[in-house]
Amino acid sequence: MAAASELPHAVCVHLAREAIAAGPQHHTEAAAVQRALHYRRTLLSPVINATGVLLHTNLGRAPLAMAHPAHAINVELDLTTGNRGSRQHAVGGLLATLCGAEAAMVVNNNAAAVLLVLAALARERQVLVSRGESVEIGGGFRVPDVMEQSGAHLVDVGTTNRTRLADYSKALTRTSADVALVLKVHPGNYRIEGFVEGTPVEQLATLGVPVIADIGSGLVDAGCPWLAGPPPAWLAHEPAARQTLEAGAALVTFSGDKLLGGPQAGIIAGRADLVAACAGHPLARALRPGGHVLLALQHVALAYLDRTAATTIPFWQMASVTLPQLRHRAEAIVASAGIGTVVASEAVPGAGSAPGTVIPSVAISLTGDHLEVLRAATPPIVARTRDGVSLLDLRTVHPGDDIHVGAALAALAVPAVPAVPAIVAAH
Ligand SMILES: *Cc1c(COP(=O)(O)O)cnc(C)c1O
Repeated sequence: MAAASELPHAVCVHLAREAIAAGPQHHTEAAAVQRALHYRRTLLSPVINATGVLLHTNLGRAPLAMAHPAHAINVELDLTTGNRGSRQHAVGGLLATLCGAEAAMVVNNNAAAVLLVLAALARERQVLVSRGESVEIGGGFRVPDVMEQSGAHLVDVGTTNRTRLADYSKALTRTSADVALVLKVHPGNYRIEGFVEGTPVEQLATLGVPVIADIGSGLVDAGCPWLAGPPPAWLAHEPAARQTLEAGAALVTFSGDKLLGGPQAGIIAGRADLVAACAGHPLARALRPGGHVLLALQHVALAYLDRTAATTIPFWQMASVTLPQLRHRAEAIVASAGIGTVVASEAVPGAGSAPGTVIPSVAISLTGDHLEVLRAATPPIVARTRDGVSLLDLRTVHPGDDIHVGAALAALAVPAVPAVPAIVAAH
C-alpha cells in the first residue's frame, strides 16, 4: 500500500486503521489502495486550470513560480552597513515607485492590510464607510467584522445605493464625531445597477480626513504601460493604485495575487507617515510576510518597472494571449486527441476583479459532463460544464500543459469510441 501510493508509512498505518474501523468490506487490499490513492488526491499539487477563470481563488489565484533558493537571503540585513535592516525596505521601495507613492509595505494578504491600517490609524476612533461599501468580499472578509477586530468604530454613511459627499460631511460635523479615517472599499464581487451613486476619491479627499482606498485587485496603473497596446476593455472600471493615490487617497491597499499577478500578499501604499505608523504597530509583526514571498514580489515589481510584465508575469501572459493563438492551440489539441469541438468562449478575470466583465476566449467543448474524469487525470484538469457540455477554456491553460490536456482528452476518447476517427473542429 505504501509503495502503491508513495505515501509515508505512518500515513498508510493511519489509513489502514480507518479502513478497519469502517468495517470488513473496506478491509481488502484493493480498498486500502483506493483509500490511499484517494488520500493522496487531498494533498496539494499542481493542477491545470481550464476553467477560464484567470484568478481562481480555489486554485490559488495568480499562478506564479516561486523559486526560493536554499540559501540565506538578506531579508533583514543591510549589506552596506552590516547592520540589521528592514524587511520592508527593498520591496516596499519598489512597490512605492510602481504606484507613485511615498512609501509602501507588505503584509500577508489584503485582509491583513485593511486590518492593520484600521488598527494602526483608527483604534478607538471612528471610520466613515458608505453603506453601499460595507460589504462581504467572499471568503469571510466582511468590512464591519474587520472593523470590529481592529478596534475602530464603523460609522455608516449614506444609503445602500447612493452616498454623496454631503453624507460624509454631515457625519464629520456631528457633535460626537471623532473621525480618524474615511474608508472606501471597492466592492469587487458584485455590482449594483440602476439608481446608484458613490462618492469618488477626488471628492472624499476634500473632507480633510485621510482617505483609505481598499482597491482590492491590485491593478497598479490604469494606463497598463507594461502592455504593448492600450489597456484591455475588461479593465475599464477597475480602480488602479497610481490613479487612486493621484486622486488624493492617503493610502491604498490591495492584494498581491489578483491583478498584480504576484504571490499572496497585501500591499499598503501611500503617505510615508501613515505607512510608518502601520509598520510600527505590533500587529505588523504578526502579519509580516516570509522571505520567499518578498523575493517573489520583488521579481514581480521589477518586471513591472522593466515593462516586461506582459511576457514574464503568468497572469498577464494569460490575459494577453490572442484569440488566433488560442484557436491554433485548441485545434492542435482536438486534432491530436481525436475528440472535442473548438468553440468561442468567455473567460473572466475572477477573484472579484473587474466584476461583470468577460475576456473573449477559446474552449474545447465535449458532450457530457467529464469533470470528474478530468480531475482524475495527471496532472488534474479543472474544467467547467454548461448545459450538459464540458468546456476546457485554453486562456487559463499554460501552453506547456496542452500536451497533458491532449493526453487526457485522448484517454476520454478511447473507451467511448474505440475506432472512430477524430471529430472535426468547428470554426
Ligand atoms: C480581495 C479583496 C480583499 C481581500 O483580499 P485578500 O488578499 O484575499 O485578503 C479585500 N478587499 C477587497 C476590495 C478585495 O477585492
